[in-house]
Amino acid sequence: MTPVRLALVEDNPDNRLLVQAILEDRYDIDEYENGVLALEGMAVRVPDLVLLDISLPEMDGTEVLERMRADAGLREIPVIALTAHAMTGDRERFLSLGFDHYMTKPIVDEEALVGTIEGLLRERRGEG
Ligand code: MN
Repeated sequence: MTPVRLALVEDNPDNRLLVQAILEDRYDIDEYENGVLALEGMAVRVPDLVLLDISLPEMDGTEVLERMRADAGLREIPVIALTAHAMTGDRERFLSLGFDHYMTKPIVDEEALVGTIEGLLRERRGEG
């Protein structure tokens, strides 16, 4: 079976390490420290799912998502928003923007993260 490829778009190295530590045994992970590099890289190494930080330099996560949804090669990929500053109404706001799911940082609940990823991958394959 082809390993599942995730793209992790996150400018904070500590947060990247944390997510890597949780997920590296299960998935192939391409790391990107900003949205520009992510869009360039994902065009070549197309991920099965994206973990996308909202607060990024140069281009924020919502703009990265917008550009993905406008790109025929990337538009169908499930995207999970990651944000550090949880506020009331965030969940609805991010889902209405077109994110498939929303999680707050720091990610500490390994089961919740993996469960969310697996659920979205199953939906994408038409099994959910
Ligand atoms: Mn950030």
